[in-house]
Amino acid sequence: MTTRLRVLDDGAWLSVDDTRRVSVSELWRLDAPDFCECALADLVVENFLDVGVDGRTVTARVYGQCIACGTKSTVEWVPVGRIVDGEFVHIDREGVLSVRGSTPDRAAAEEPERRSG
Ligand SMILES: [Zn+2]
Repeated sequence: MTTRLRVLDDGAWLSVDDTRRVSVSELWRLDAPDFCECALADLVVENFLDVGVDGRTVTARVYGQCIACGTKSTVEWVPVGRIVDGEFVHIDREGVLSVRGSTPDRAAAEEPERRSG
């Protein structure tokens, strides 16, 4: 069984099996040393760029701003959920999210606005 992961509405939503599951404007606390100089970035999610699955973990490339220091940039592959028995399960995004940095096995190939390179 294939789980369809997509970015919809110009990056406003992550869709899993054609259901909108994760939206922009969430505030995430990220353990992402490459993003900014904060020990933990307080990231306001502004745009989803891509989504994929790494093992069972659904990860997304997101663009956003750290409200602590003002850095605006892209974060490579933030875990946002898990696939359990073919179903999307939210992870606790109010806790610290550890950015993996690794490209997922299966990125969403259908996204027409996806940039290469
Ligand atoms: Zn920061």
